[in-house]
Amino acid sequence: MSLIAAFSAVAAHAASGPEFDAKRLSQDVKVLSSDEFEGRGPNTAGETKTVAYLIEQFKAAGMQPGGDLVKGKRAWTQDVPLGRFEIKGPVKLTLNDGKATQELKQGDDLAVRAAMNGSRLVDFKNAPLVFVGYGVTAPERKWDDFKGQDLKGKLAVVLINDPDFETGTGDFGGKAMTYYGRWTYKYEEMARRGALGTIIVHETAPASYGWNTVKNSNTNVMYDIVRKKPSDSHAPMEAWIQRDLAVDLFKRSGLDFEALKKQAQTREFKPVELKGITLSANYAVDAQVITSKNVVARLAGAKKPDETVIYSGHWDHLGVGLPDAKGDKIYNGAVDNGTGIAALLELARAYGKAPAPARSVVFLAVTAEEKGLLGSEYYASNPVYPLATTVGVINMDALSPYGPTHNFTISGSAKLDLLDQLVAKAKQWNLVYAPDPKPEAGHFFRSDHFPFAKKGVPAISYGSGDDMVDGGLEAGNKIEEAYVTNNYHQPSDEWSANWPFTGMAHDLGMLYSLGRDLADSKDWPNWSKDAEFRAARDASAAKRK
Ligand SMILES: [Zn+2]
Repeated sequence: MSLIAAFSAVAAHAASGPEFDAKRLSQDVKVLSSDEFEGRGPNTAGETKTVAYLIEQFKAAGMQPGGDLVKGKRAWTQDVPLGRFEIKGPVKLTLNDGKATQELKQGDDLAVRAAMNGSRLVDFKNAPLVFVGYGVTAPERKWDDFKGQDLKGKLAVVLINDPDFETGTGDFGGKAMTYYGRWTYKYEEMARRGALGTIIVHETAPASYGWNTVKNSNTNVMYDIVRKKPSDSHAPMEAWIQRDLAVDLFKRSGLDFEALKKQAQTREFKPVELKGITLSANYAVDAQVITSKNVVARLAGAKKPDETVIYSGHWDHLGVGLPDAKGDKIYNGAVDNGTGIAALLELARAYGKAPAPARSVVFLAVTAEEKGLLGSEYYASNPVYPLATTVGVINMDALSPYGPTHNFTISGSAKLDLLDQLVAKAKQWNLVYAPDPKPEAGHFFRSDHFPFAKKGVPAISYGSGDDMVDGGLEAGNKIEEAYVTNNYHQPSDEWSANWPFTGMAHDLGMLYSLGRDLADSKDWPNWSKDAEFRAARDASAAKRK
């Protein structure tokens, strides 16, 4: 596109499309991340304030309540019951190699999560360990690491990431991570197989983070959606083990960890028992149910109200926690995810002013993202509007409050029509798509669009670009690095009067236009043929005419 063509495209859109106000975006982020909102922890006074603020803003934007049916009328919210699980007292872990016993240390040797299968006590003696490679069952790729291995009463020792991460080429997307590589998949698969437990071998490169992250995120309070049969989703023990300790255990049972890993990268791999090694465990678990809320605002479609386009973002952050060096205990979460929620409100305002679209549009502010995508998982498992006729999901998480960029991105890598449509649309906004530079980190599975994707609904998480109109990549990288080092998940993620919000205001025009096209069209965008979520979508094809 020539420069002149580019300018006229921008001018044409500016004349017709809605305006997005950088000042209002700033104001919403300022309110949501203020100390009064206490870091927006689920099931706290901060939640009450946040939910009230969102309802007030959606109302003012002309939206209707779109949540739970209460006495025949829609409420503004969907109740999200969450299980809260915490280990009480010491975690006793004893290793036996036939010659001696050895006490292992929770957090240092293993990182054991509070059980989420409903047990109040995890207690077993001398359980055998079986190495199951990458622990993958992928019929569409003709891959089965288990070969009929029975895991009842046994602990499955499993590698992180998928079989072709290290080789770089193969059936699992090469370096990029498929869902089979994610730790959540390993836990789910072993639960499906009735294992006593899962022990994931931590290696920094394929995990994409160090042991500290594993330790911190597994040894604190855990949450899950309330499930009818939790033991279908969680084995009694869920844990990670330090690589060096794992290698040593293999050695003590006469096995070579590296050689077995090489075998696990092939279809021929068979599970191997770590002969002579057993583990005993004893720890108590406190389990409670709390209730949090998703906020659901809706604009009814004029022609096809039963078909739904969803914009989403998570309202929660980390709440009040350990103080930083300055003694600040409130994790304000201005960028994460005050920005995405401000964007959601501003989009609702734009839709409220425009003529009603053909299909309905839902603005979904979900809870408990920080506890493991639980608000979105709950909605996707208990949809207020059927998923079969949900056209697509555009999620927004931790956007840049700085100036405009030449590019944009999505979380992780995926192949779907929705992304192609966004990339095409972006040209009118002078934006180019910058693919995730680290697809092996599995970012596609770490944002609120994912629970929808898992159920087949075309879904992406939009992300701000890094090539700044003012200062280029150098300026963008500097901002990103400073945020990750100084503010990400820290009390210092606070609103600043210096943030211009002009980049968000610009990009929201594009996201509005994408959603508006979906809401005014008859089309059903789908996943590409080889995407792992295509089959789930196609299963409900008959419900889409
Ligand atoms: Zn976060």
